[in-house]
Amino acid sequence: GGRSYSFMLRTKNPCGKVSNELYLAMDDLADQFGIGTLRLTTRQTFQLHGVLKKDLKTVMSTIIKSMGSTLGACGDLNRNVLAPAAPIHRKDYLFAQETAENIAALLTPQSGFYYDMWVDGEKVMSAEPPEVVKARNDNSHGDNSVDLFTNDIGVVVVSDANGEPQGFNLYVGGGMGRTHRMENTFPRLAEPLGYVPKEDILYAVKAIVVTQRENGRRDDRRYSRMKYLISSWGIEKFRTVVEGYYGKKFEPCHELPRWEFESYLGWHEQGDGGLFCGLHVDSGRIKGAMKTTLREVIEKYNLNVRITPNQNIILCDIRQAWKRPITTALAQGGLLQPRYVDPLNVTAMACPAMPLCPLAIAEAERGIPDILKRVRTVFEKVGLKYKESVVIRITGCPNGCARPYMAELGLVGDGPNSYQFWLGGTPNQTTLATVFKEKVKIHDLEKVLEPLFYHWKRKRLSKESFGEFTNRMGKEKMLELVDKWEGI
Ligand code: SF4
Repeated sequence: GGRSYSFMLRTKNPCGKVSNELYLAMDDLADQFGIGTLRLTTRQTFQLHGVLKKDLKTVMSTIIKSMGSTLGACGDLNRNVLAPAAPIHRKDYLFAQETAENIAALLTPQSGFYYDMWVDGEKVMSAEPPEVVKARNDNSHGDNSVDLFTNDIGVVVVSDANGEPQGFNLYVGGGMGRTHRMENTFPRLAEPLGYVPKEDILYAVKAIVVTQRENGRRDDRRYSRMKYLISSWGIEKFRTVVEGYYGKKFEPCHELPRWEFESYLGWHEQGDGGLFCGLHVDSGRIKGAMKTTLREVIEKYNLNVRITPNQNIILCDIRQAWKRPITTALAQGGLLQPRYVDPLNVTAMACPAMPLCPLAIAEAERGIPDILKRVRTVFEKVGLKYKESVVIRITGCPNGCARPYMAELGLVGDGPNSYQFWLGGTPNQTTLATVFKEKVKIHDLEKVLEPLFYHWKRKRLSKESFGEFTNRMGKEKMLELVDKWEGI
């Protein structure tokens, strides 16, 4: 049959770990049965688009074989345990990743993998287990590469002065998805639940999951997320009920250093003698010369890779002697950043949207290259330097897969060629944006952005990011600037 499937594979491996064998298999499958590209997602997984019904069995069994022992039956509910992707051999990173794997195992009764599948634009299989995320912190700053506060459950490693992990801060009730014109759906930041000693973590996570399962709404999927339960109960009541299942009281969350968003781009020491190299992938879409080059390098050096929550890829376990030839190969493929990529692209994200996602009402991945070029032109016009950047995220619908509500400038499709503009996220992903304007036609992009960036350039405090600036000025003031704008 000619029916086209789009499906998302979610491996059981947290941290976005992808074995050499699986990468090569996915690369082949994309050519043989897909649309010739590989798509990395914001939840550290692969998405494969355009598989025909007759090929589905072959595709699935190839994936299962190449995942070896980590894979069992289908229908697994382990959806989304994220963890920092960097293969750094340090106690806190390793402990964060190990815990993520334990939590994944806890939430998956059968080992296996999980997939969402759409047939002719209709979702035929899905499940809604909680999103869990792991981050780590050390004494200088926390690594928020996982966008911690956007998840149902956030788990942060807390270490002592010697870097020895002692326990975890837990955060609950984050989530991005909303629906247009329904005020009682909204994006929400996770809030502190409490601290648990490390030996208790799985009990605590289980208690949270049970609380949600027993009390969350089941009648309407739009309200089934933990964030709605917590916002209706309040965190105090939620905590008390969780403590009932956990059998203990939570300690208050420990003080943590400031969060930073880590991109891991470029070359880094792993700490075990090996190197890793992070590569930016525009909208997570691996195609053309990039796909060929990546395949050659990954195959030749037998590299394992990891997918980051920013839709980028990390090449792991590289010997020092390979650094030179790999650098040359990557540069020839146009793949080494930041030299070849606009800083705006490096922090930007877009969801797949049209024509791949049936929920899309506006362009995202296909539209973002042009939008970023236009933003760059506005930057030049108002005198902002090349190295300056703003976190821009675009989605084709309010579901928010590319986390637009954490962006400094979030565009959320609300009609054909039309977007809601959200302002107020920060570069370290700790602040929720708020809606600034609705139904902005994309051809009016400059009319809105010119005044905003013009005033940011002139009125910002030292080192003030665009998001911090728009928050300080406030929505009314910013709207006034846009309405009164007469051009430069
Ligand atoms: Fe599809 Fe909406 Fe998610 Fe984009 S944000 S991938 S359009 S569901």
